[in-house]
Amino acid sequence: MAEAVATDTVLRSTRVVTPGGIRPAAVAVNGGRIAAVWPHDAKLPEGASVVELADDALLPGLVDTHVHINDPGRTEWEGFETATRAAAAGGVTTLIDMPLNSVPPTTTADHLAVKRATALGKVHTDVGFWGGAVPGNLKDLRPLREAGVFGFKCFLLHSGVEEFPQLAAGELEEAMTEIARFDGLLIVHAEDPGLIEAAPQPVGRHYAGFLASRPRAAENAAIQGLIALARRLGTRVHILHLSSADALPLIAAARHEGVRITAETCPHYLTLTAEEVPDGATEFKCCPPIREAANQDALWQGLSDGTIDCVVSDHSPCTAELKCFDTGDFGQAWGGISSLQLGLPAIWTEARRRGHGLEDVVRWMAQAPALLAGLRTKGAITAGHDADFTVLAPEETFTVVPSELHHRNQVTAYAGRTLHGVVRSTWLRGERIADRGTVAPPAGRLITPAEGSNS
Ligand SMILES: [Zn+2]
Repeated sequence: MAEAVATDTVLRSTRVVTPGGIRPAAVAVNGGRIAAVWPHDAKLPEGASVVELADDALLPGLVDTHVHINDPGRTEWEGFETATRAAAAGGVTTLIDMPLNSVPPTTTADHLAVKRATALGKVHTDVGFWGGAVPGNLKDLRPLREAGVFGFKCFLLHSGVEEFPQLAAGELEEAMTEIARFDGLLIVHAEDPGLIEAAPQPVGRHYAGFLASRPRAAENAAIQGLIALARRLGTRVHILHLSSADALPLIAAARHEGVRITAETCPHYLTLTAEEVPDGATEFKCCPPIREAANQDALWQGLSDGTIDCVVSDHSPCTAELKCFDTGDFGQAWGGISSLQLGLPAIWTEARRRGHGLEDVVRWMAQAPALLAGLRTKGAITAGHDADFTVLAPEETFTVVPSELHHRNQVTAYAGRTLHGVVRSTWLRGERIADRGTVAPPAGRLITPAEGSNS
């Protein structure tokens, strides 16, 4: 017999991925929140609508803390409507937008207001915002925080767009000092500018040339520097899109001694390899780059042992034109890989091959990103959390057809791949927002850290 709690909907599956493991369960939902998690055979309250999922797995909705929506300003690259539609179709229910590639960038509270006004009414998922730390906006960091950003992104080298410059060494220290004052979070694109400058230029159609232009040493050095600063200043630091597995021992040792540092990596580093990138295939270009298969094995080891916390998309689209497919020149093409809609099946396909379970995927793609952003009601199927779910057919396969993607630009490094894991439906606060690829009208919210907390 189920305990007596008010319930409007029950989702029942033989495979519910809970923080305590995968088990048969009936998940009670009321008013958009998870009211209780009952045994599968519990007697269900009369009047509740019951959704029978049979053997399809019920996962918490994924939380993707690394998405470039580029809206307003570069909406021909992506936009709130298309990005969040792709997210919903792919099982992501919460995403956090990066502060750059939109115009204006999210570097002042006024700019944040512009972003929020642009997004309002257009989002299919919940959407939050990162702020940016750039030269000259030190005084804006606290107001941005008060206006509801989840933390601050900075670059240590050229970001790719003029309106979001990188921090010089002294500016980085100032920003970290300021952010530590209010116990905020700094998230960093960690590549050392000097070592990138000293590397060979990325010219031509050969991927090996591009790879040589973004050496592991640049990531390793930048991360080492950040660890030293975080140790001294006490700032909470997060390493974005870790690609160089050589940096894993540095991160692990720093954490061991109590430095407040976390790290993420992305589906492309975990599922694609440098060896397989064809000449001129600039859809594989991103920074830091996709590296060799042996490096990828080490990244998986870093995930297994917990040195890497999260797997997030770094969805960074652009127009097909900017990928320079006519020349296939890795030096000229825009760097960025779109995978908002494909991250879950891409990771699940490789994870299962390597002997991981869905509970691992959920930890990396829902629970840990929610923890990183301080979203205390997201990322887990447990009473009191938002009723955000992804229903997945884990054994089913599909082939990636670019025209079936909801991203504004259907450029993808995954074209033609057969992946395991079909997203049957996606639920946000107890409502079905996507059903077999069909996405409902926008019903997402713009969220802030305050709204994400239980307090
Ligand atoms: Zn990014």
